[in-house]
Order: sequence, then C-alpha cells, then structure tokens
Amino acid sequence: MNFSLEGLRYEALEAQLAKSGVNPVHAKPLFRAVQRRLLRNDLGSAEGILPPLQRWLASEQAVKPCAMKLVDDTASSDGFTRKYLLRLHDGTEVESVQMGFPGRYTACLSSQVGCAMGCVFCATGQMGFSRHLTAGEIVAQAHHVERELRRTQGSTLRNIVMMGMGEPLHNFEPTMEALDIITDDRGMNIGPARVVISTVGYIPGIQKLTRHPKRYSLAVSLHGASDEERGKLIPINKRWPLAELLETCREYSAIKRARVFFAWTLIGGVNDSDDHAQRLAELLRGMDAHVNLIPLNPTEGFDGTMPTEERSQAFQKIIQDAGIPSTIRQRRGIDVAAGCGQLKAKRVKRTGRKPGINVPISGSL
Ligand code: SAH
Ligand code: SF4
Repeated sequence: MNFSLEGLRYEALEAQLAKSGVNPVHAKPLFRAVQRRLLRNDLGSAEGILPPLQRWLASEQAVKPCAMKLVDDTASSDGFTRKYLLRLHDGTEVESVQMGFPGRYTACLSSQVGCAMGCVFCATGQMGFSRHLTAGEIVAQAHHVERELRRTQGSTLRNIVMMGMGEPLHNFEPTMEALDIITDDRGMNIGPARVVISTVGYIPGIQKLTRHPKRYSLAVSLHGASDEERGKLIPINKRWPLAELLETCREYSAIKRARVFFAWTLIGGVNDSDDHAQRLAELLRGMDAHVNLIPLNPTEGFDGTMPTEERSQAFQKIIQDAGIPSTIRQRRGIDVAAGCGQLKAKRVKRTGRKPGINVPISGSL
C-alpha cells in the first residue's frame, strides 16, 4: 500500500472506513488522534477510539501509519536550527528542518527524494531524482517536527515551508493533499497563508495553484534576470522561460490577490552585481512582489562562492529603493548544512562513519 493514515484527508478517511464496513462517524476521533494529537502507536487505546474502530485498526484492512525512522538529528550551535534525516519504508531518505524561536517555529519539508530539476548549485539537484513522496510522507515530516517541538519546547509549529528536497509542484497532487491536511482545522490547523510553496518556476503547477481553492503563499526561485543567465543555473528555464514565468506569476498575483515571494540565491561574482539587482527590479515592476535574498550555501558539486555581506546589502538596497520589499535570509544554522539536500549529501559522503555523529562543515561559516 503506498498510502498511510497521515496522508488521508478527512473525507478519504471516512471513505476508507466505509469501504471496510465501519461507520464513517468513527473518522472524527481517528482523525483527531492522528492529525491533532499526532499519535502513531497504540492508536487503538487512544481516547475516543471505540471497539469497531479498534477492531479495524487491528485488522488487515486498516491503513497503517507512515513508516518513517529518524536516522540523523543535528542541531546548529546557535540552537536556531535542527535538521532531521528521515528514512522511509523503502530505505530512501529525506530531510526536514526545524527553524526558529518559541512562538515562531517553522518546518521546512521535502516533497521528493532527490529532484529532477537539476539546478547546478543545489545539493538535491546534484543527487538526481529518486521518487515522489506520498501525501502521508509529507504530512509525517510535519508531525515529526511538531512532536519534537511539543516534547522539547512545549511549543508548536506556526509556519510550513515547502523548501526542502524536491520540487513540490512537480509532485502536485500529493503536495496539495498533504497541505490540505496540515491546514485542516480539525488537525494541525496551520493557516494556508502560513504555508509557503517554493517552486523553481514549474509553470503548469503555478497555473494549477492559481485555480486551487486555498490561498497558500507562493515563492518562486529566479536567480537570474535573463534567460541566458538563469538557464546556466536552472536547466528547466529552457522549457519554461523567464517571460512566461513572470506572466504566470502576475496572473497568480492578480487572481489570488496575493503577493508573490521571489527567491534569489546570491552567488559571488555570478548574479550579485548592481546591474543584476537593477534588472531584477525592472522585471518585477508593478507586481505585488517581495524578494528574498539567499546567500549561496556552497555545495560539493558547484564551484560557486558566497557573496560578501556588503554585496548582499548593496543588492538589497537597490531592490528596496525600487519600492520592492526585500529581506536577506539569515545565515543561521549554516553549521548543520542548512542548504536543501546538504545533510543527506554529506551523509552519503561519510559512509562508513557511524550515523548520528554531528560533523559541522568546517570553513563554511
Ligand atoms: N524546489 C523548490 C524548493 C526547494 S529549494 C525551489 O527550487 O524553489 C528552496 C530554495 O533554496 C530555492 O530558492 C533554491 O534555489 C534554494 N537553494 C537551493 N540550494 C541552495 C544553496 N546551495 N544555496 C542557497 N540557496 C539554495
Ligand atoms: Fe530541485 Fe529546488 Fe534544488 Fe532546483 S533548487 S534542484 S528545483 S530542489
């Protein structure tokens, strides 16, 4: 079975129960136990679970919780970031990251094992694509982070960002199912506006998102202000070029009446000049946009460097002076290999060492 309890929307859970001859009214306590109390084991003895449901849970027909095992757990020295490497039922692994302070915790989730988009600077892109995650595997990552927060901080998640491994819009339906579950007010109840879907510019997915009933926050990775420059970093720009992408974003913004967040990974000497900033501001003119600047996290397979701090600030000032709000992502948690896919990439490299040992990347601070 390629689905799990965590990945069933309320209505899908009702349907599963009905299919097994169990009255669908039992969906209510079960959904609550799984999606709000985040129970995995001993569901049968949870509050409100009555005998017909207990029998179903113990039967062959029951949908099981997602098989997911923590294989690495690394905290950054400043305590701001914790990164989890989770092993799935088939032995593949994904990363989930917890960031922030009490009252302002964010979980960064993966949507795929690896990624098919091949962005040259990205550790996940360098790995290639293994498979899509199921909705249950995406929700189970959020549950893992939330459980840890409840256990260690007595706190809960406020935001979800789909900025881990993979391209969420290339795995559209399972990602949407997962986010519908995470935002369900009978479950974790995280508001849709507090959920960011980050895309490399997968146009068909953005178009579907424009018609989706919920209004999630959309972040689009640009990194280049011309097709030539962007194409060198993001190969799929050849299929979905910049002008078409920006047109799709403008349409999204107009129809959803929403601000679009644009990500720009700053690479020293490559895309961090004043000229780049001016051309980016020009591209976004008239749109309700926000620019998030991300200094490059150097990766093994890419010969790029971080920008200097002065460069990042000069770039930001040009964007802001053009009337576009802009933030520079803080380089917190860098010592846990905070770029997407980097923990997994690092673990692959250190095969032979005992899993779970923390190896800060020296020299990358
Ligand atoms: N596939 C989606 C979401 C995952 S990546 C996307 O590409 O948007 C989340 C963000 O991290 C993207 O903006 C991506 O360009 C950026 N990123 C990936 N690797 C990075 C690195 N090594 N340094 C800095 N930013 C990186
Ligand atoms: Fe995939 Fe995003 Fe990495 Fe590009 S940056 S390879 S789309 S995860």
